[in-house]
Amino acid sequence: MDSGIALVTGAAGGIGEEVVRTLAERGLTVAAVDRHAEVLGETVAKLRAEGLSVQAFACDVTVSAQVDSLVDTVERVLGPVQYLVNAAGVLRVGQAVSLSDDDWAATFAVNATGVFFVSRAVVARMVDRRSGAVVTVASNAAGTPRTGMAAYAASKAATAMFTKCLGLEVARYGIRCNVVAPGSTATPMLTSLWTDGGADGSGERGSIDGIADEFRVGIPLGKLARPRDVAQAVAFLLSDHASHITLHDLTVDGGAALGV
Ligand code: NAD
Repeated sequence: MDSGIALVTGAAGGIGEEVVRTLAERGLTVAAVDRHAEVLGETVAKLRAEGLSVQAFACDVTVSAQVDSLVDTVERVLGPVQYLVNAAGVLRVGQAVSLSDDDWAATFAVNATGVFFVSRAVVARMVDRRSGAVVTVASNAAGTPRTGMAAYAASKAATAMFTKCLGLEVARYGIRCNVVAPGSTATPMLTSLWTDGGADGSGERGSIDGIADEFRVGIPLGKLARPRDVAQAVAFLLSDHASHITLHDLTVDGGAALGV
């Protein structure tokens, strides 16, 4: 994996930004995709200043027509996409009985339907070329129930299973599709959960030590993931080092889901 084109969604910050950096450092040219054009522009300018080959493409992954035209444009401008990373995601928290229609729909629109739209557009082209690799960033919450996260966890379970079914269908063309399931990772999505915004450290301590009331066991390795920890797992699954791995779900959570 020392040349070629990758498309990464959710690239404006957090895990997506770090995936872009990691893949570009390995020699790929990366199409960085996000719906927040302004923040994406700033992130891409920073990455280019680091000497990396990255180009910004603003797109909302929940809009099918935008996604189809995005993939057309990326392939016209950069060339055939060989690697796809679905990292765009949203989190709406609340007890299941209190979630609004909009909480549910907005969560599934990005985390599940968006992954379908982007994967469909990119993988159809990979099939024509008989080559490619896909990683979807789901969550350890897809397999471990969490309080306040019913919509999010259900959407991540949906997207993980979609990715594996897709991988089953395209394995005959040599295309691999895998899932990376992060646990608590130090990004804006995680800090948004901390009521104090991270100021007094209690949010971080709760993630690491566990919270009995919430049936959370904490993180056995005793630390949050950094975006880099997740990005390295993504890069591994895209690379030739993983050439016989497909339909796999790789958990990167310091043991928080107890290996389930
Ligand atoms: P983040 O909020 O920092 O970044 C998510 C990015 O997705 C943002 O840049 C956002 O603009 C983009 N995005 C959202 N909706 C979009 C849309 N409709 N179209 C295009 N882009 C859109 O979050 P993060 O922590 O970096 O999360 C990255 C992925 O990792 C997400 O899928 C998330 O669910 C998953 N994840 C995160 C954690 C964690 O603790 N941070 C844990 C498990 C899984």
